[in-house]
Amino acid sequence: MDQRYGEFIRRVRELADLSHAQGLLSWDQETYMPPRGTGPRARSLGTLAGIYHEKLTDPALVALVEELRGRELRGDEEVNVRYVERDQRRALKIPRELVVELSQTQSLAHEVWVEARKKSDFPLFRPWLEKILNLQKEVAHRVGFEGSIYNAFLDEYEPYARVETVAPMLEQLRLRLVPLVERIGATGRRPAAGILDQEFPVDRQEAFGRQALVDLGFDLERGRLDVSVHPFCSGTSPEDVRLTTRYNPRQLTGALFGIIHEAGHGLYEQGLPAEAGGTPVGGSVSLGIHESQSRLWENLIGRSRPFWEHYLPLLREHFPEQLKGVGVEAFYAAINQVEPSLIRVEADEVTYNLHILLRFELEQALVEERVAVAELPQLWDEKMEAYLGIRPPDAARGVLQDTHWSIGSIGYFPTYSLGNLYAAQFFSQARKEMPGLMEQVARGDLLSLKVWLNEKIHARGRRLRAGELVREVTGEELKVEYFMQYLENKYGELYGLG
Ligand code: MG
Repeated sequence: MDQRYGEFIRRVRELADLSHAQGLLSWDQETYMPPRGTGPRARSLGTLAGIYHEKLTDPALVALVEELRGRELRGDEEVNVRYVERDQRRALKIPRELVVELSQTQSLAHEVWVEARKKSDFPLFRPWLEKILNLQKEVAHRVGFEGSIYNAFLDEYEPYARVETVAPMLEQLRLRLVPLVERIGATGRRPAAGILDQEFPVDRQEAFGRQALVDLGFDLERGRLDVSVHPFCSGTSPEDVRLTTRYNPRQLTGALFGIIHEAGHGLYEQGLPAEAGGTPVGGSVSLGIHESQSRLWENLIGRSRPFWEHYLPLLREHFPEQLKGVGVEAFYAAINQVEPSLIRVEADEVTYNLHILLRFELEQALVEERVAVAELPQLWDEKMEAYLGIRPPDAARGVLQDTHWSIGSIGYFPTYSLGNLYAAQFFSQARKEMPGLMEQVARGDLLSLKVWLNEKIHARGRRLRAGELVREVTGEELKVEYFMQYLENKYGELYGLG
């Protein structure tokens, strides 16, 4: 490694140390910090963000990046310099006053949103969303984009993705999902009734969840599981990965699948290349690829029949009364019940992407100025009716339900659907390469799949872009087909669609 590149890496690792500290402070804020700790914590995080910005845009680092960009870089060096330049460009193009205004507006808007959702009062939130949109559009124009302005938003969460390719895929999903939901609805089957609607003591939910976490291969020497209001995975290093979940005594599946979901994120973080720690190469590819790892474990494994052939008897040891006489078929049908519902985070695998599609279409239209904020509630309700056949009775269960827009996260939603598509395509490839995979799962052996994902996806870090990774692992571009085939087979059988 030459001296200039060495100096570049030293500075980049310092930035990563700051991110590590920010990550832990934020994790603590969501888990253990006492309520009155908010003020000093916000100050501390603000100071760290300021130092980070200063170091990232330090003229010496800017000059280093420029010098290195001028060379013929290859491999990890090219990746590291390219990603730091990306971050730097963004940081340099947005003036400090705009950063401050955006962050203050977003935290105030978030508070107003909490209130507005409570009162189901969209007009209360409306001027704040307008303000956020205007500021975010200003950022997009300063950072620059090709084609639709929405590309500037999407690129922040799914680097190198383009709305010109994402929109047609989501449209294909809609064309196949809407009729599938209708056909399932027409059967009139409601298998979950009774089984899942019981008291499930939290301590036993936790005991089972922790066992599943260990069986999945999550290393508790390099990670933790705690409780928070909104479950998340915070990876500050492959050696220190924090997961959270939440328990509800009346609801078994929330915490259970929540733990498996976050464990999928956590396995990705623990599997990242430790030797590249603190540099872009050692990081994850995109939010969509991250989500593919959580969805793969949660849905393709966790909601599969073979998984429960092994785990139902173990779950019954924890809940002998509640699950007395419940067989694998009944349990499998119950955890895979499809039902159009108002709330995205409670949606099943089949209806979920329609919730995403609706948000994606609306936010794209908003930033492209084809619709106004004032029109959102009505458009939301119309789309819910068109896609899912139900209409929200109020804004709280409609347009006001998600926090994303209130914190300025516009362009984030499509990464959830991309995650589902990536997951199905990766999983199909895993099954091709390991023909006995589901028999292994039925015996409780989950580690072969974990090792496969470690090798094919995690250990590569950020060396490939999302599109390149999909091609490298599966030999094809990302396609809607794998996900739709998976859904149509699984739910066609479950609901006897023939
Ligand atoms: Mg997730």
